[in-house]
Amino acid sequence: MDKVLFLDRDGVINIEKNYLYKIEDFEFIDGVFEALKYVQNLGYKIVIITNQSGIGRGYYTFEQYNLLTTWMKEQFKQNNINISEVFCCPHAPIDNCNCRKPKIGMIKKTTKILDIDYEKSWLVGDKDSDIKTAKNANIKNTIQVQTGHKFDAKDSSATYVLNSIKEIPTVIKS
Ligand SMILES: [Zn+2]
Repeated sequence: MDKVLFLDRDGVINIEKNYLYKIEDFEFIDGVFEALKYVQNLGYKIVIITNQSGIGRGYYTFEQYNLLTTWMKEQFKQNNINISEVFCCPHAPIDNCNCRKPKIGMIKKTTKILDIDYEKSWLVGDKDSDIKTAKNANIKNTIQVQTGHKFDAKDSSATYVLNSIKEIPTVIKS
């Protein structure tokens, strides 16, 4: 079975900016490459799951999103990090789709490429909707990071609250 590290994108991998789609606006959060290399060395597969309602709302196109995704994957590759897949929900909330987090459509899609070990897998997000996605999909371990949308740590339902993805080695040990 596959240990999977599910990552939200905006606010976790890169600095949160509303409806980001331009490569020049994309800024990696400090320490992301080192943290992901660490989990990769522990044998985790890395999957990014991102709500991109800016597409459904007409703020940018799927093609523009794709250009950014291709560029982002290339940056990971140059840092010797293999991202198994990047799944995106392109819908607006009113579309009532099955993939917009906290719904689990993107986790279900992952089962087509990986044999998810739900006990040993982790999900990292900055929003409560990310943590709910993990709970809805029976992914046991969750981390809410404080680099994205503001939240009160005492209200978090995540297993761990960390300042940033950089601190992953303090909680993921095997
Ligand atoms: Zn969707």
